[in-house]
Amino acid sequence: MEAAVRRKLVAANWKMNGSSAANAQWVAAWRAVKAPCEVAVCAPFVYLPQVGAGLAGTSAELGAQNLSEQAPGAFTGEVAGEMLLEVGCRWVIVGHSERRAMYGENSELVAKKAARAVALGLKPIVCVGETLAERDAGRTLEVVGTQLAAVLSLCPVEQLASGALAYEPVWAIGTGRTATPAQAQEVHAAIRAQLARADTQAAQRARILYGGSVKPGNAGELFAQPDIDGGLIGGASLAAAEFAAICAAAT
Ligand code: PEP
Repeated sequence: MEAAVRRKLVAANWKMNGSSAANAQWVAAWRAVKAPCEVAVCAPFVYLPQVGAGLAGTSAELGAQNLSEQAPGAFTGEVAGEMLLEVGCRWVIVGHSERRAMYGENSELVAKKAARAVALGLKPIVCVGETLAERDAGRTLEVVGTQLAAVLSLCPVEQLASGALAYEPVWAIGTGRTATPAQAQEVHAAIRAQLARADTQAAQRARILYGGSVKPGNAGELFAQPDIDGGLIGGASLAAAEFAAICAAAT
């Protein structure tokens, strides 16, 4: 079978950072950038309208960092996918390790959120990844495989391929310690093989991003791996120039 050509995707995860002034500066700088890849900018909920307006007419699409698994209703403090669509989001991060570790999101909830996103036509970026203790115990592929299996139980690969998966080793997020290209490629290949067991063709189309201390200096080597289809970028996405340099490596 012919290998699918997967366009690279680079997504910014601003996490709980930003301000009206900082966002305005970021988008003003971004407007001069010609990215060779698809780009998503995932901003905090309250800034989505501002950032969406700033990105209009650029190659970047707007994304959120979370959504509720519920339809609109009595869920205090939650944000529904319908609301994200209304303010212009095309993308949404689901199951980031910070949400799993700090806000009690388990794989079942992550799967429901991913299913809710695809049902609404939002493109989910579903995150999986092992902790350092799990890696040291030789359990990386088992942990990532179990997290992915939960999502696959509710979302066909075809639907996940409308968005992306992100392999984010927890020990590499915000630590400055990046997985080597070979370490990342090994897990990406295992993820694609698991997708292929469910749907060979959709697995070839599915984009699998790497996330964890990606910087302009290491992005090129990571993105050159055969199963790494771009990146999910935290800290280095907060400066537009640094993020643009990472995007430039995604050809
Ligand atoms: C992330 O939070 O998704 C991430 C990859 O963060 P960082 O790039 O800062 O490691």
